[in-house]
Amino acid sequence: MFEALARWRRRRLLEKYAFPDKDWDEALAPFRFFDRLSGEERRRLRELVSLFCAEKEFAGAGGFEVTLRVQLTIAAQACLPILNLDLAFYRDWRSIVVYGGEALKVRREVMDDAGVVHQYEDEIVGEAGVGGPLVLAWQSVMEELPGEEPVCNAVIHEFAHRIDGLSGETNGAPPLTRKFHAGMTRADWQATMRYAYDEFCAEVGRWEARGERGHEMPLIDPYAAEDAGEFFAVVSEVFFVRPSELHGRFPELYRLLARYYRQEPLGSEGQGA
Ligand SMILES: [Zn+2]
Repeated sequence: MFEALARWRRRRLLEKYAFPDKDWDEALAPFRFFDRLSGEERRRLRELVSLFCAEKEFAGAGGFEVTLRVQLTIAAQACLPILNLDLAFYRDWRSIVVYGGEALKVRREVMDDAGVVHQYEDEIVGEAGVGGPLVLAWQSVMEELPGEEPVCNAVIHEFAHRIDGLSGETNGAPPLTRKFHAGMTRADWQATMRYAYDEFCAEVGRWEARGERGHEMPLIDPYAAEDAGEFFAVVSEVFFVRPSELHGRFPELYRLLARYYRQEPLGSEGQGA
């Protein structure tokens, strides 16, 4: 009975939130990582996007207009990491705020040890506080241009923070669910993550010691050395956008993410770590 009701509700939402083929194809076209999806995966992603749009609320900030194209571009990338998981990984929050321009400026206040309040202007590129709206800069979403190998992905980054935050904190330890992650243990997770994170921080340290400029940047954005939560978000981007590079540098980490997201962006190539 409940199952029949759930099926009926799902069908109704899929009809209500359906969108034209043309808009769907245009939303996916600039991002080459969608090319590796099979026809069946693309169809499932599209359904997931409809259900996602039914559940979430998009808002434009600073005069930015959220068109169908903007919605689909964001929703398609947001749903990629949960394609073989569940929409429930994005539960407990509702709004997505999109603004034009590269960065949204906010005024922040900090109190120093002497109790003096300092004000300063800060930029948020995309900020994902647990429970609050997810904020995205349209310009950083569209940084990836056709014909160029994308280096990062702002949408996957922020949504990875949301998955991570489901455990109560964004600390690089997303929940391991009974339904999807049987056989994965917290201890294995921590060991693999910790090893890769330490290696990566050492690499960034060597790169900084050499005087940053003029030397080749580490494969993964040095920002990922900030903390374990940022590391998880950044390596999730790399996993979906440049999987072969992640596999080449940190094969165990690639395998860990493949098991977590239940996807093989490298196909059979990535299975021997
Ligand atoms: Zn982040």
